[in-house]
Amino acid sequence: MSEFLKVSKVMLESNGIYFIECPGCKYLHPLHVGSQHKIRWDFDGNLEKPTFSPSLMVNGGHSRQCHSFIRNGQIQFLSDCHHALAGKTVDLPEVEELE
Ligand SMILES: [Zn+2]
Repeated sequence: MSEFLKVSKVMLESNGIYFIECPGCKYLHPLHVGSQHKIRWDFDGNLEKPTFSPSLMVNGGHSRQCHSFIRNGQIQFLSDCHHALAGKTVDLPEVEELE
């Protein structure tokens, strides 16, 4: 059982993994930052306006591909996303607390 903690308006955290609600895919995307994770992102520590690097690739190479940069509380979708927000930059949406 893993516990999700709402650490700010826009992020949940569980086990060294932050989750943002992707407004393109309409579901949570994980960003591993804890040192226990082999592959991890650099996180600037700003919970309200997070910046992660490098880019976030979800379903890479598949038809539901989502590719973005998360910077300063915004998510910048690259043009190779499958969804309608491809090529756009939007604010991270508020996350729902999970039960
Ligand atoms: Zn997405």
